Amino acid sequence: MRIGNLAGRAILVRDGRFVDVERASGGAVPADPMAALAALDRLAEITVPDDAPVLDETLLGPPVPRPSKIVAAALNYRKHAEEANLPIPERPALFARFPSALSGPAQEIALPPGRDQVDWEAEIVLAVGRRARHVSAADAWSYVAGVTAGQDVSDRAAQFEGPSQFTMAKSHDTFAPTGPLLVTLDELGDPDDLGLRCRLNGETVQDGRSSDLIFSAGELIAAASAVCTLEPGDLLFTGTPAGVGWGMEPQRFLVPGDLLETELEGVGTLRNRCVAAAVPAEAV
Ligand code: ZN
Repeated sequence: MRIGNLAGRAILVRDGRFVDVERASGGAVPADPMAALAALDRLAEITVPDDAPVLDETLLGPPVPRPSKIVAAALNYRKHAEEANLPIPERPALFARFPSALSGPAQEIALPPGRDQVDWEAEIVLAVGRRARHVSAADAWSYVAGVTAGQDVSDRAAQFEGPSQFTMAKSHDTFAPTGPLLVTLDELGDPDDLGLRCRLNGETVQDGRSSDLIFSAGELIAAASAVCTLEPGDLLFTGTPAGVGWGMEPQRFLVPGDLLETELEGVGTLRNRCVAAAVPAEAV
C-alpha cells in the first residue's frame, strides 16, 4: 500500500490516483493519518478505483505527521563517516530530532537568517507500526509499518560547535521533509537494499543503497528499542550516504533558490525548494 496525507486526511494511492480512506471505508478507517497508520489491516481492504481522482503530490503533507519521537542515526554509511573525518562508530550512534521539524514532499525548506552552513542529508525513513521494546534485530522489520524518503537537513555550524549534540542543529521547522508517501514493505522488494539519491539543482550529489548501511535498519530499531519504547508512528531516520556539502572540497551549503530532490527507490521523490526563512525583524 501507498499511504499519503492530503490536507491532514489519510489517503490510499494506486497508480497516481487516490481515495480518502475514511470516506472509502464508510468510516471504518479514521481520517487522521496517525490513526490510519494503526489500522493497516483495514486499509488493505480499501480499493482505489481506476477512475479515482489523480493525485497532485505537491499538495501532500508528511505521511506520518505527528510521531511521538524521531530517532536518527549518525554516521551510518562508511564513506559518509570518512568524508566527515570521523571514526566509524562501533555501535549505532542515535540522536533525537523534534517532530515539529517535519514537512511535506514539496514544501519549502526555510533557511534561518545568518545560518550559512545548512547541509543536505538524504535518508531512508522507517515508520514504526506497532509498539516495540527490546526488539531483536532479526525481528525488527515486523515492527515497521512502512518506509518513506526524508531529509535530515543539518546546520553544520550548530552541529559541531560546543558540546556535540545534534538535536537543535537538525530541528529547525521544515528541516525534515518526508514523503511523498509511506510505502508498506510488501511493495518494496528487499527493504535492506533500496537505492537512495539526492540531487541539488539537478546535479546528483548523493547516490547510495541501504545495503551499504553500517548498522542495518533492524540493528537501529534494536538499539533504539533497548533504550525507549517505540510507539506506532514513531520515525527512524537511518543515516545518509556520502556526498553531503560538508564533505566537499570546497564545502558547499544550501542557499535560497536551491532545489533539493531526494529520491528513494520504490517510494518516490521529494522536491523541496530552499527559501530564506521569514523571521520578524525584532527576533533576528
Ligand atoms: Zn542524518
